[in-house]
Amino acid sequence: MEFLTDFTVQEFEARLVELGVEKWRARPILLWVHRRNASSFDEMTDLSLDLRAELAKHFSVYRTKIQNSHTSPDGTTKHLIALEDGDVIETVLIPEEDRRTVCVSTQVGCPIKCVFCASGLNGLKRNLSSGEIVEQVLHVKRGMAPEERLSNVVIMGIGEPLLNATALIKALKTMKASWGMGIGYNRITLSTVGVVGQLPELVKQNVTPNLALSLHAPNDTIRNEIVPTMKNVKLIDLIKAAYEYKRATGKNVTFEYVLLEGVNDDKKHALELGKKIAGTKMKVNVIPFNRVEETPYHAPSQEKIDRFVTALGNCGVPVMVRKRKGDEVSAACGQLRAQFTAKKAECPTS
Ligand code: SAH
Repeated sequence: MEFLTDFTVQEFEARLVELGVEKWRARPILLWVHRRNASSFDEMTDLSLDLRAELAKHFSVYRTKIQNSHTSPDGTTKHLIALEDGDVIETVLIPEEDRRTVCVSTQVGCPIKCVFCASGLNGLKRNLSSGEIVEQVLHVKRGMAPEERLSNVVIMGIGEPLLNATALIKALKTMKASWGMGIGYNRITLSTVGVVGQLPELVKQNVTPNLALSLHAPNDTIRNEIVPTMKNVKLIDLIKAAYEYKRATGKNVTFEYVLLEGVNDDKKHALELGKKIAGTKMKVNVIPFNRVEETPYHAPSQEKIDRFVTALGNCGVPVMVRKRKGDEVSAACGQLRAQFTAKKAECPTS
């Protein structure tokens, strides 16, 4: 069986022609999927019954399904999405006054192992396909009220997106396409731990979302402690690559900085970072650590957070503190999947 969410319109046209179906049908069928939220051929009511039956022999719309969903009091909804091979990934809908943002995963697990993050606890299982990435957005869109509009996509769920660049690029093209969801790259933000060698490829393919780069440290010593698998990349080269992406695309580029008590949260760290990036005019998004039981880290006190933010701001760096969302539903990366996997391990028959 093939799945419609894996196809570009050109690929689907070619496949239909092979099956003896008119090429022009590809676009309206994909629009049924990406704009009109159809999950089966039965819902495509302007296709003849014969055509629907013929297509259903070869294709399904979706290859994943929502296994369960939890909504926290602030409205954040976290979905566990079941894959065909029995594993699960997470997708989160974050509603704010004028926005509906979906946060999507790109890998099952993660090989990077940032020391504070739940996603890497069990390493990488596999990459997601482009269809599996696209379906996360579609599942969330389908669950929204008709008057609501999905306004933003953030690639900030489980996994390191730029280690799955081929599938990611295809998924982003599908999100943006006129035959796809029509979500412009200005409304999409890609977060990377710093696999910056892939950024020129994005630019070359004209796939240019906003960028968030997870810096987390003011120097290489602390960065290597927090992101031990990326010792070959120098902090200064990350800053340069981010700057170059901003220059080449004109998109928003921010640095993410998870604040860990006693590790990277001192005023002197803020000043050291400030010196390195003030001249670039790029913003810093400070993220107070969201507790993960399996790690020894803690969020700093509000006073320490304020001191860090003020010191960075005084260097001339635009700085924001990310609001905590969905604490009650374990909405930090990979937490829900980690709990699910742990439960399965305790109780292998469930
Ligand atoms: N692999 C990508 C996407 C990760 S998730 C990257 O590293 O950028 C998006 C952001 O959430 C990253 O900056 C990541 O470091 C951060 N994050 C992960 N776990 C967290 C936690 N427990 N508390 C706060 N931020 C966390």
